[in-house]
Amino acid sequence: MGPTIAPVQTSSGMPSSTTVVIVGGGIVGLTAALTLAERGIPVTVLEKGRVAAEQSSRNLGWIRKTNRTPEDVPLAMAADRLWQGMPERVGKTVGYRQAGIMFIARTAEQMAVYENWQQSVKDYVPESRLLTPNEIAQQVPGGQGVWAGGIFTPSDGRAEPTLASSAIAQAAMAKGAVIVENCAVRSLSLATGKVCGVVTEKGEIRCEQVLLAAGLWSRRFLGNMGINLPTLPVVCSVLRTQPMEGPTDIAVGAPDFSFRKHQDGGFIITQRGALDAPLTLDHARIGLRYLPTLRSQRDALRIRLNRYFWQDLMLPRRWRNNRISPFERVRTMDPEPNPDLNNEALTNLRAAWPVFNQAKIEQAWAGMIDITPDTNPVIGAVDGVPGLTLATGFSGHGFGTSPAAGQLAADLVMNATPLVDPAPYRFDRFK
Ligand SMILES: Cc1cc2nc3c(=O)[nH]c(=O)nc-3n(C[C@H](O)[C@H](O)[C@H](O)COP(=O)(O)OP(=O)(O)OC[C@H]3O[C@@H](n4cnc5c(N)ncnc54)[C@H](O)[C@@H]3O)c2cc1C
Repeated sequence: MGPTIAPVQTSSGMPSSTTVVIVGGGIVGLTAALTLAERGIPVTVLEKGRVAAEQSSRNLGWIRKTNRTPEDVPLAMAADRLWQGMPERVGKTVGYRQAGIMFIARTAEQMAVYENWQQSVKDYVPESRLLTPNEIAQQVPGGQGVWAGGIFTPSDGRAEPTLASSAIAQAAMAKGAVIVENCAVRSLSLATGKVCGVVTEKGEIRCEQVLLAAGLWSRRFLGNMGINLPTLPVVCSVLRTQPMEGPTDIAVGAPDFSFRKHQDGGFIITQRGALDAPLTLDHARIGLRYLPTLRSQRDALRIRLNRYFWQDLMLPRRWRNNRISPFERVRTMDPEPNPDLNNEALTNLRAAWPVFNQAKIEQAWAGMIDITPDTNPVIGAVDGVPGLTLATGFSGHGFGTSPAAGQLAADLVMNATPLVDPAPYRFDRFK
């Protein structure tokens, strides 16, 4: 199971009509709901399982501009501002700390990636700076690794995923949003080609707009309508230690491990250099679109033919409104953590910072991530389906940008001035 999420008391019933229905109670759908509720717009969030039980509670909690594609940096900068104001906005801690993020390189080749990134964003993120091995040793003492250098962005940070989504959900409800758990949306209702509602397992809700923020499931949801959203799944395994003394409050990402301090005093650790890539039928259908990314990431992907192939194959790709949908069959995607990858992460970390020899592992989990071909999300309208907007495909880095992504999605849904230029996120870029 994933980490324990701060409890949220959601609604038992749902309205017969509203202005906006949001499909998916992950952090993106919830921040969009909070924004809409604050603007006085009736909104209902429908979640097939529990709020934030998939990616939004299982992630590492990193909030970073570093290493984002340059066109994604303005959204991340807007998110920084929103995270800073979040405790006051939601009236609760979300574990936000602007303690900085550092990436470190073993080789000149790895270092060149950071140098190029820093050059490409130096006008936006002037505080991001390259580090020498000595500076790494000063900022993160007690290390024994040999580093070519690193990059440090002091304005990056972290928050606690298990607190943030719940706090945002509660604030959204306090401001008038309705959130219903265990309520899968099976499909859209259309009238003369325009959205007029959603069909759920508990009946129909009429609405003017739908925001699809269904994470990993958005591709299947749209596929049932004949719309091809290219995303493929990868699985990231994570460890959490018991509280311990560590070398730094900064989140550190090395080529083959990463660690960041947890609010309870422990550390969240992962094998940053490897992800499980479970094969599915979709690899045959859309895999070619990923070739450029695959070329640069091929060492990081552990491609596997495992039981997920069969699980995915057995789930329908087309269904009728009056039949149980795939979303009711899998209330919460709960992949098994990969002990080999977690052991690699711990071994590599211990070799680099021996203080982690005393780390006692409290919990291991995994989460399944939806990756687009260019690793940027889709936030925007769907041509040909008036009333349908997407906020999905966050490709493993949507927790950090979620306050801004949710707000941008809300802006687009209501035709308001967008928080940032939405052009990089248009759906039609995949055509
Ligand atoms: C292990 C791991 C580590 C990560 N680390 C980081 C990190 O450090 N920093 C960072 O920025 N990002 C990170 N991410 C990525 C981040 O977690 C995601 O980008 C973000 O949570 C996406 O939020 P979401 O709301 O789009 O999706 P989700 O959290 O997946 O939410 C989608 C929700 O929609 C629901 N749903 C789907 N279909 C339906 C339907 N038909 N009806 C009703 N409900 C439906 C699902 O049940 C789910 O709850 C990580 C992810 C993982 C798994």
